[in-house]
Amino acid sequence: MAGAPDAGPNVNSVDDLICPGCSEDDDLSGRRDGEPGQQTITVTCGSCALSWVRDLKPTCPTCGSTEVRTALQSIVDKSRGTQLSIQSMRVVYLCPTCEPERLADWNKTNSPLRPSELPHDVD
Ligand SMILES: [Zn+2]
Ligand SMILES: [Zn+2]
Repeated sequence: MAGAPDAGPNVNSVDDLICPGCSEDDDLSGRRDGEPGQQTITVTCGSCALSWVRDLKPTCPTCGSTEVRTALQSIVDKSRGTQLSIQSMRVVYLCPTCEPERLADWNKTNSPLRPSELPHDVD
């Protein structure tokens, strides 16, 4: 019956947080990392096991806009041979000004975006 909202370090009570993978909004857990002032929260979805870093204040690296949208992007890693396999996903932020096409694509399909660049042999 302790009714007062606790603004303590309990990140399980973040509101308006939704798993970008499966839209789960309840079975989420968070963990704080980092130094004070540079803290990040790693959120893990108990429903689909996706985990992502929640940027507390995402901004567009190009124009500095904070009106960015959360989207998912596939992480493709090069496995044996030349075959590419999707290993996992990460959360990216799309800027409506700088990346309208990718954002429109994300809104339309709601499926993870393709990686912006495929891994190549760098060695
Ligand atoms: Zn999920
Ligand atoms: Zn931008």
